[in-house]
Amino acid sequence: MLKIKKELIKQIADQGEKGYPYEICGFILGKIDYESNIRTALEIYQVENQNKERANDRFEIDPKDYLKVEEYADSKDMQIIGIYHTHPDHPDRPSQTDLMFAQPDMSYIIMSVKKGKAENWRSWELVGNRFEKEEVDII
Ligand SMILES: [Zn+2]
Repeated sequence: MLKIKKELIKQIADQGEKGYPYEICGFILGKIDYESNIRTALEIYQVENQNKERANDRFEIDPKDYLKVEEYADSKDMQIIGIYHTHPDHPDRPSQTDLMFAQPDMSYIIMSVKKGKAENWRSWELVGNRFEKEEVDII
């Protein structure tokens, strides 16, 4: 389960609309309670989409950005609890590529941006080897 502030969803929407028609991406930082399996999002951190050729329907994160964000999260006593990205003119469902790079115990927020306007979004989590809709609590 993901707990996330409305404000962070708004930030993702703003970034997604600004980045349209390309996919934007970033990290969700916060805390994980492994016992209850609740992830609480406290901040988001946008990174550059490294896939320039197919930025309209793919995203790639530089390993250096991964490290940088991990260090930042560490310094603020947080963890990387997920990754968010947008789907310009596509639904908020994960693609095959999204599945290929997914890791367990992470929240994957996908926001659909249609004609430049952020619409639906959903959070997904890996269960076994497929994505399932994650329960979200807006706090
Ligand atoms: Zn995707």
